Amino acid sequence: MTTTHAGPAGPDEAALLAATTADAEIVTCDACPVLCRIRPGKTGACDRYGNVGGRLARMDPLTVLTRAPEAVRFAGDDWDGNTIAAKDVFVTAIGAGTTYPDYKPAPFIVGAEIDGVDMVTVVSEGIFSYCGLKLKIDTDRHLGAECAPVRANGEVIGHVTTAEYGSQMLSLGGVHHLTGGSKKEGVATCETLLALCNGAARDLTVDGGASVRVQAGAAPIVDGVPESRMRVGCGSATIGIFASQWLGHADEVIVVDDHITGVLTEHQAGKFLGMRPAGIRVRGRRSTPGRYFQVANPGVGWGGTDIVEPLTIVERIDPKIAWPGLRLLMVSTTGEHAAWFVLDGALRPQQEAMPAAIADAVARIGENCEPALCSVLFMAGAGGSLRAGATENPVLLTRAVQRGRARVTSGGAPVHVWPGGGITFMVDVSTMPANSFGSVPTPALVAPIEFSLPRSDYAALGGHMGRVRSVADVLAEARPRAVVLPDGVAFPITEPRG
Ligand code: SF4
Repeated sequence: MTTTHAGPAGPDEAALLAATTADAEIVTCDACPVLCRIRPGKTGACDRYGNVGGRLARMDPLTVLTRAPEAVRFAGDDWDGNTIAAKDVFVTAIGAGTTYPDYKPAPFIVGAEIDGVDMVTVVSEGIFSYCGLKLKIDTDRHLGAECAPVRANGEVIGHVTTAEYGSQMLSLGGVHHLTGGSKKEGVATCETLLALCNGAARDLTVDGGASVRVQAGAAPIVDGVPESRMRVGCGSATIGIFASQWLGHADEVIVVDDHITGVLTEHQAGKFLGMRPAGIRVRGRRSTPGRYFQVANPGVGWGGTDIVEPLTIVERIDPKIAWPGLRLLMVSTTGEHAAWFVLDGALRPQQEAMPAAIADAVARIGENCEPALCSVLFMAGAGGSLRAGATENPVLLTRAVQRGRARVTSGGAPVHVWPGGGITFMVDVSTMPANSFGSVPTPALVAPIEFSLPRSDYAALGGHMGRVRSVADVLAEARPRAVVLPDGVAFPITEPRG
């Protein structure tokens, strides 16, 4: 059965389907193991392939990247495709189709001269059962304990891993959730991964923890509250950054943080500034002078702790050291929480209105916080089927990737390839064109992947040289949609490294 490109989705596609004649034959799609039998004018279970006039067709248009919007227009009947300079167009695998069931060459193997180097790009959509997401959620608020299950639609689809500097990290998906559990779990996992990869928002809940709405490039919403700021640093770092700005305005500053709570006059920074010890001891485990672990439990209060009332972390005030009138600032690592106290005659902290200089110092903390965002990294392993689409001897492609001779991109976006065996890569979904991902009901995700390498290297690794085509030829046949990469993402560089 021949696979064709159906051209750009939209009214033309609808008309095309409507025009399918009743006597057109049922086609069997062999682009994944589901093997849908597709009736005339219908699409298969994933909506990616359809029966158009008795031919199996990829329903989404092939996507090409351009350096400028005007570099490529939709290929119309009056366009010969020859005016496009290869260096201005990169054929991505979005909408290209797959190599399944493995022995076929990739749908597009494109030859082009890039900056004087004769290059080949092997273009295909990969079906990834081994895939998942690494989610970085910029918040100090406690989302859940390490290893706590993360759910979508009630199904466990991942778990909490650890905290990074100002962020909570989740791992979602992976083969054990996609295929190793119940069908419901696999479907919920696949649906959530697909939505997040394509830029949609999803609600997640953490067992024993918070609920969080996540979306690539958007602020997380924790327990219904939008997060705005990523902390400036831990409590100790905050003291290191701002100590000199507090000098003369406060006698003690306690920066409340779930990781390290800082106490200015005990801290090395306070000592360097010659500050007088204040005698205020906080709870928790003293790590080094002025740095305390575990002053409270994790939570969604001050500095990612469960503290609502900051004085609860003050263990004692030493009457031999502290003095009446001592001025104490308590503040969180984002500056969202702050309170100003003055010790009375009995050395009890009394809350007072914050002086302007201190309010400015607190605002400065907030000013130095970056906007809180969710970052979604897709991670997958490119296995034998994909590589067979590039070469008859797949290990040679793996070695070319590992040696840096073959560059891997996903929808034209740069990827990070993990060291060690195989081709295990990660890509920031926000650097990819919109809606780059699909899925199949096995369940698995479909993601674009391209391998670019010098033509001579491609020949040497047993590439399908007879299938190499020019960019113009591909554009003329596939009638692609042209997309400009998101701001800040470099055009794919296809010269080899080294
Ligand atoms: S699920 Fe999609 S790719 Fe798989 S056989 Fe059906 S139409 Fe083809």
